[in-house]
This record gives sequence, C-alpha cells and structure tokens, in this order.
Amino acid sequence: MKSSILVINCGSSSLKFALIDTTTQQAVLTGLAEKLGLEQGQISFKHAGQKDSQALREANHAAAMHAIIARLRELDLLDSVKAVGHRVVHGGEHFKASAVIDDTVIAEIEKCAKLAPLHNPAHLLGIRTAMQQFPGLTQVAVFDTAFHQSMPQQAYLYAVPMQLYREHGVRRYGFHGTSYRFVTGEAARLLNKPLEETAFVCAHLGNGASAAAIKGGKSVDTTMGLTPLEGLVMGTRSGDIDPGIFGYLASELGLDVNGVTDLLNKKSGLLGLSELSSDCRELEDAALAGQPEAILALDIFSYRLAKHIAALTVALGRLDGVLFTGGIGENSSYLRARVIKQLGFLGLQLDEAANEECIRGKAGRITTADSVPALVINTDEELMIALDTAQLAGLSV
Ligand code: AMP
Repeated sequence: MKSSILVINCGSSSLKFALIDTTTQQAVLTGLAEKLGLEQGQISFKHAGQKDSQALREANHAAAMHAIIARLRELDLLDSVKAVGHRVVHGGEHFKASAVIDDTVIAEIEKCAKLAPLHNPAHLLGIRTAMQQFPGLTQVAVFDTAFHQSMPQQAYLYAVPMQLYREHGVRRYGFHGTSYRFVTGEAARLLNKPLEETAFVCAHLGNGASAAAIKGGKSVDTTMGLTPLEGLVMGTRSGDIDPGIFGYLASELGLDVNGVTDLLNKKSGLLGLSELSSDCRELEDAALAGQPEAILALDIFSYRLAKHIAALTVALGRLDGVLFTGGIGENSSYLRARVIKQLGFLGLQLDEAANEECIRGKAGRITTADSVPALVINTDEELMIALDTAQLAGLSV
C-alpha cells in the first residue's frame, strides 16, 4: 500500500499543493489553484510529466480542495494520503518547530495573524478546508519562522524601546526557514560534513529574497525582520531603507501608512529601480542587451547581497560555504558571478564554467577547488514539509 503526504500552501487567492510519496520522496502530483475569490477560478495539475488545467465550478478554496480530491480519486491515489502538511508563514515566538494541528495550534496561528495579515488568515482557510475534507488525518503546520527561533537576542532585537518587544512582539523573526533547513542539510551532504560542524551563509533568492547565517544547522542571524520587507533588494520590495524615509514620503507625497507600505512592498526593488520589470530573467536579458537601467538594478541587487553575506559571516565566526537557492539563486549565473566576485576577500573564487552550468535544475559547486565553496542547491520546501509531517504523524519515511 502506497503512502503519501498532501502538502498544501494556501494563499489568499491561490492554493498550491503537492502529493509526496513517502518512500521515493518524489512529488507524484502537483498543482496550483488560482484566482480564488475572483470571478473565474482555475486549477492546474501536473502528473507523470503531463499538465492540464480546468475551470473551477466555484472560485473558492473548498472548490479547489474538492477538485484535488476528485483528481486523487481518479488517479487511485486518494487512499495513499496518510497526512496533510500545511505551510504557515508566521509562527511568531510560539512555534519553534512544526506542530500537529489542534484547536490550540489554530488559536496560536490566529494570534500570529497580526504579524502576517496577508498570509496567516489564508493558511487558516486552507487548514480548515483540509480538516473538513480529510477529517481522519493528522494535519501538521510547518512554519517559515520556526527555523530562526534559534537566533540570539543580539540578532533578533531592534534597538527600539524594549516595551515594543514585550508588549507588541516587535523583533526580527526571519522567513524562508523551511527552505534554509532543506538546503543546509543538502549542502552538508554534498560537502561530506556533519551538519553540526558546518557554518554556512545561505541566500534564498526568489521574488522574495533573504540570506541567513546558519551554524551547526541552526539559524544565528538572517536579513528579514518583523516582516519580509527587511534586508535584500527583492522583485518589488525595497529591502533595507532608512526608516526616516517613511515619514519623509508620507509628508512629501501626502501618503498614509498603507500608501507608503504599498510603495515599499509593491513598487520598489528591481521593479522600482529598473522601471522595467521585477523579474530577474527579464532584467538579465535587458542587461545583456546593454540596457543601463537593468544593469544598475542588478548591480544594486548583487552589491546589497554581497554586503549582507559578508555581514552575516560575523555571526558565524568563520565561513564553510555560501549557498544559493530559490528561482534566482538556482538559475542566475549572471548575479551569482557578480556576488562572488565581490567576496574574494572572504576566500571565494568563482569557477566561471561551473557557474554557467548550474542552471535549470543542475546543482553543484561553482567555485574553484581551492576556494571557500559556493554551492547552488535546488530547494524543496514541499519535501521538507512532507518529511516533518510524516515524522509528526508517526509515519516511516
Ligand atoms: P521564485 O520566487 O523562487 O520562483 O523565483 C522567481 C525569480 O527567479 C524571478 O525573478 C525569475 O525571473 C527568477 N528566475 C527564474 N529562472 C531564471 C533564469 N533562468 N535566469 C534568471 N532568473 C531566473
């Protein structure tokens, strides 16, 4: 009898899912329901290399879940589902690890919703829908923030009145933790070192981007903060800015808090700088064609990243490797080259040919044999969620 875990990543208008076989650890069926809550929702499936999509009868999360269940039944996979794992962005300080979902866990996720108002309510919708549809199965929450709960106070506290931390939870939480956990494990394996003896800086570079210092498999510092706006330049997010810009823009442009927040989250980053696109691939094409705005945007992205990687080594005390992951980290040889060339003083030496080879799913080392290693690693957050879920549900993998 096959055994699999259904992994669900629920957004406010989308539901991404993967069915992971616990024996092969491969995704058997994946898919994405989109435009939920809008007029015409749709869902797409990928199974055995074949893709198809269909309109949803109703554009809501329950309808998406019904469509997933119908497809699982058609493929004779429904009975293989032994537990359900949910990605949850914010677990605050309460969750230091993944948790089996019960009423108390749901109440805590609700409490954390004020820290992630766009994400946590959507996750709860997904959790409640899955609990209704799979009433007999263990459901597990896997938090993006949990991995960073090992950070020391000197890394997670802001220099603001302590009362704001005590009474309002104002501190750095960090994100992308599930990806970091997976990627550092893979890197230790690739370098043939026990995870406990490693000191990595890992850069998860996608539309959202962050970097983290990870020592002995534990996060000791990271670039994202209370929200995923802090740190690196991102697709549409500014990353670090002088907080004084907030008040200045409010008075100069007559914007309210939401207006400035929107500007920094949705109109800044690569998009704001290039006035062209938030998409790294498009900007790379434009930069290679000589477009100065695209070149400048990518230069600023890589300089900020190199600066943060260097800063994060302070938290490690040494550097065993730099790890690149996420859509940009796994594919943009252009940006990786620019970042590594600025880190020669830390002992990194680019292997140009290896760097060009590590794209579209090919992982590996992109520095010379005598260099501090830089590795490209394909992240697999779904697998990490499935492994946690299987473990907490008492299933063998
Ligand atoms: P993610 O959020 O992890 O899916 O990453 C999305 C980002 O990865 C976008 O900015 C894409 O342009 C970028 N990306 C994907 N493939 C490539 C590629 N071949 N070259 C450069 N950037 C890429």
